[in-house]
Amino acid sequence: MSAEDKILIVGGGLAGLACAVRLHEAGKAVVLLESSDELGGRVVSRIKEGFILDRGFQVYLSTYPEAAKFLDLEALDLKAFRPGALIFQGSGFHRLMDVFRCPQYALSTPFQPIGNLWDKLLVGKLRLEALNPWKKTLREDTSTESYLRSYGFSERMINGFFRAFYGGIFLERELRTSSRMFEFTFRMFAKGKATVPAKGMQEIPRQLAARLPREAIRTNTTVDSIESTRVSLSDGDTINADRIVVATDAESAAKIVPGLKGDPVPWRSVTGLYYSAPHSPLKEAIIALNGEANGLVNNVCALSDVAPNYAPDGRALISVSVLGLHHGEQFEDTILRELQQWFGEQVQLWEHLHTDRIRRALPEQIPHEGAEEKEAFRHHDGLLICGDHCTSASIEGALVSGLRTAGFIIKESRRTKRQ
Ligand SMILES: Cc1cc2nc3c(=O)[nH]c(=O)nc-3n(C[C@H](O)[C@H](O)[C@H](O)COP(=O)(O)OP(=O)(O)OC[C@H]3O[C@@H](n4cnc5c(N)ncnc54)[C@H](O)[C@@H]3O)c2cc1C
Repeated sequence: MSAEDKILIVGGGLAGLACAVRLHEAGKAVVLLESSDELGGRVVSRIKEGFILDRGFQVYLSTYPEAAKFLDLEALDLKAFRPGALIFQGSGFHRLMDVFRCPQYALSTPFQPIGNLWDKLLVGKLRLEALNPWKKTLREDTSTESYLRSYGFSERMINGFFRAFYGGIFLERELRTSSRMFEFTFRMFAKGKATVPAKGMQEIPRQLAARLPREAIRTNTTVDSIESTRVSLSDGDTINADRIVVATDAESAAKIVPGLKGDPVPWRSVTGLYYSAPHSPLKEAIIALNGEANGLVNNVCALSDVAPNYAPDGRALISVSVLGLHHGEQFEDTILRELQQWFGEQVQLWEHLHTDRIRRALPEQIPHEGAEEKEAFRHHDGLLICGDHCTSASIEGALVSGLRTAGFIIKESRRTKRQ
């Protein structure tokens, strides 16, 4: 490949954007093809009545290592949640804070009726291990649930805290997700904070798109199929390229790439609801979790407590996440009734703004066999396949996958030049 060779990237989510930006900044000619009318893939936001509504509740973990090097975090103006959570159980909330960063709760947190004192000590031990830079050995990958049990956590702690907290991250409360993913996110939370950009999550892809020339981006362009070095578009056009990168989700990749092996990865789904309220029921930048076995609501927060731009003056934006897909006339009434148990009569004043039903939210991340780490991208018949399904279902995972793919192409082109 030479510097003039054309590289096509199919899919304008974070993986495709990262790949395109890295290649463009290395002097390569890239064209990014995106089927929808905007870039960002699963990280998009809309404005409604002055509220910023991210598509599903998402946070950027401030210590994502590769993302921090690649994005301009200062420009994103990240606003942080407090390190801890309020756990709803029965008639009220119990506060569990990270006592290393909120020492004022050092006396109360260990005695909260979520788990026992030993559980709180184990959290401290896990935290020390997570922050130990010398501890690099990969444990055997297992489900998060068995990992927590074998670590010694009580059922009360697993059911009362981990299922809700990590349920909101993995989008499943059974905790079947890989323990490596658990260790990774636990380390990110121990080192940094959950944040949102001041103007919404879509600022992340917007910032990346701004690093590309206009002519490198083609939205409303759906790829129907790919054959060796040619893509066929849904409007009948074809484009030839010297290299093609497929940066879609796994399900879409399997549709357009002939013979792509492996079962499509099943999806985790989520239903996200937004409400406009006269004031925040929490009055602080914190996540409230369902610490009980019943109920549909998994987690709630007032995004305007974290980043005031999310709501117009004088209003609060409430985000509610329900795991799985939910339909039916009764659904929204059921959620409001549950929220009344959490927050009381004030919920009657809340106005429903929007419901997102996101079937394809996260690819399932079951334990991975073998001690080695997964490759960040795949080769298939001369094509390069990347996206969060190759690494980890996260913003960091998608960016790493796109960046490593670009790195491979850059190295390959240097090798060819030398020959
Ligand atoms: C509700 C929700 C909550 C989440 N929470 C978090 C969180 O808190 N923290 C975190 O780090 N991560 C979170 N994630 C995960 C994170 O958003 C994703 O891992 C990441 O955005 C995936 O990026 P991607 O580029 O791999 O894939 P995608 O974003 O899916 O991008 C693929 C792109 O390919 C395009 N495409 C597909 N088929 C074609 C075709 N045939 N032709 C052209 N284009 C095509 C799609 O339109 C899409 O734009 C969450 C995701 C969701 C949905």
